[in-house]
Amino acid sequence: MKLHTNTGGPVATNGYLLADEATGEAAIIDAPHATVAPLLKVARHHGWDVKLLLLTHGHWDHVADHRVVTDQYPSAKVLIHQLDEPKLIRPVSIFMPLPFDIAPRKADAYIADGQVITVGKLKLEAMFTPGHSPGHIVFYIKEHSLLLAGDLLFAQSIGRTDLPDSSPADMARSLKRVLTLPDDTLVKPGHGPETTIGSERRSNPWLEEL
Ligand SMILES: [Zn+2]
Ligand SMILES: [Zn+2]
Repeated sequence: MKLHTNTGGPVATNGYLLADEATGEAAIIDAPHATVAPLLKVARHHGWDVKLLLLTHGHWDHVADHRVVTDQYPSAKVLIHQLDEPKLIRPVSIFMPLPFDIAPRKADAYIADGQVITVGKLKLEAMFTPGHSPGHIVFYIKEHSLLLAGDLLFAQSIGRTDLPDSSPADMARSLKRVLTLPDDTLVKPGHGPETTIGSERRSNPWLEEL
């Protein structure tokens, strides 16, 4: 397994390129503005075939570059949870006019809780983790103790729940659920540096009251 990160856009969002070197299959996980082209360059360099764009949720800072993926890999499928598809169909920021346009699009398919998505021989288990947004998903690769956490859990923080369609109660349930993962699970979040489940369980102040 190879995982490359690129961070960018107005709110420094992390995008990921995940590849199974053995089969040459790859996926992009989240597509922040102006971050995807360098990741695709890495994929091309290695001869990896990008089959999927997996979206943790529909916020503009995670979907902005979706077309960069499908322009270069026209057969790549764009997947998101059904409850966050409306944000992909109408990508806007409720806080500020965006300095760039995001093409509206539908999902090619939906991601549901418990679904196992394969990237070559890698198995990504989708965990439905609403709260920050109604259709938020994280991807757990058990074999590699890796969690692609989107805007659920950050190093020393959590995703905001003051948005019009956020739910603090759902967020608490979703956080409790990922905290059942093993301590050594590496967390690759949608913003900020990587961390581990154990480290966050021990010292993340936002998790104390769960
Ligand atoms: Zn978000
Ligand atoms: Zn975000």
